[in-house]
Amino acid sequence: MDLYEYQGKELFRRFGIPVSDGRLATSPEEARAAAQDLEGQVVVKAQVLTGGRGKAGGIKLADSPDEAEAHAHAILGMDINGHVVRKLWIESASDIEREYYLSLTFDRGEKKPLFMFTKEGGIDIEEVAAERPEALARLHVDPLEGFQPYQARRLIYGAGIDDPEEQKQIARIAEQLYAAFVGTDATLTEINPLIVTPDGQVKALDSKFTVDDNALYKHPDIAEMRDLDAYPPEERAAREKDVTYVKLDGEVGVLGNGAGLVMSTLDVVALAGGRPANFCDLGGGGDAQGVVDALEIIGADPQVKSILFNIFGGITRCDEVARGILQALEQMAIEDPIVVRLDGTNAEEGRQLLRDAAPPNLHVEPTMLDAAKRAVELAA
Ligand code: GDP
Ligand code: MN
Repeated sequence: MDLYEYQGKELFRRFGIPVSDGRLATSPEEARAAAQDLEGQVVVKAQVLTGGRGKAGGIKLADSPDEAEAHAHAILGMDINGHVVRKLWIESASDIEREYYLSLTFDRGEKKPLFMFTKEGGIDIEEVAAERPEALARLHVDPLEGFQPYQARRLIYGAGIDDPEEQKQIARIAEQLYAAFVGTDATLTEINPLIVTPDGQVKALDSKFTVDDNALYKHPDIAEMRDLDAYPPEERAAREKDVTYVKLDGEVGVLGNGAGLVMSTLDVVALAGGRPANFCDLGGGGDAQGVVDALEIIGADPQVKSILFNIFGGITRCDEVARGILQALEQMAIEDPIVVRLDGTNAEEGRQLLRDAAPPNLHVEPTMLDAAKRAVELAA
């Protein structure tokens, strides 16, 4: 899960990394109040889950509450790389003497966290890595040993920091960043820029923070930071109902049980000359309620023209799935044609249930390929 800058900074703060004081605002009036409250110059920052906000005009300095309100008015609703700005972070402005870059990510190849640090911050790190690799200090941390003071020194000397006051502060921040990374089960933490103010204070001016989704159960406070408004409505519903859902750009909605079967179903739809609009994986369970939830989510996608159900019953029983389909059809008005292929455990019982009920928009097909062909035809 990616966090907004203000959420990442909240976590930085918890681990002791210096950040500026700020307030969240969702309207120009709130931005004005925040600026009044903070006093002095503030910076109005678009909160979107993408980078390059500065270049896109989503970050503006304001000398007065009036100006903060005007900037907020201009930035709210702005589209930054396809992300609509709904929230602003109003922060006490900092004076900047220098901009550095510090990140800690998970290097899967080495199976270790990797620090990267350079004095050339504020810009694209990929550019520094490609053009001036010697300016970029890289350091892996052995997760069993943890981050050691000698490693902090290596990182700092490696990037050419020679001011002792800066060295001390950056060593602490690196240590705190490591604690934040491990303590929140992050896969990425990035401070770009890490600034030095004219009076020599080092602090995080930006934050990029990604937490491992599979570890969120250990961090309910972070899990709660998820902003459901940032997702399309059907993805929101899928998360709430705990259904695996992926949006694609064709016209056939796909429902299957198990990742392997779902992937093959996508291939078979393509083989039949169609394109999947999305897919839902019912997983191993596939009880009636799960089917109802998944159908509801798939049906909510306006691009769907037909729905292809492909179930191979193992642990999942086909009669239970059939009951789910019939229950879903009773509960909601699904106008799209539904093509069903059931095989495996209790397949005959399942097909019989569907034949007996015989809803008008339901088509039962004997094989996966027949079902895919039918679904593609019906979507045309
Ligand atoms: P990004 O463009 O999405 O990476 O957003 P950042 O938070 O990194 O801000 C981009 C740039 O805006 C920074 O590199 C700074 O140059 C500038 N900026 C952000 N906050 C301040 C501030 O408090 N004071 C000043 N003077 N500039 C700032
Ligand atoms: Mn930045």
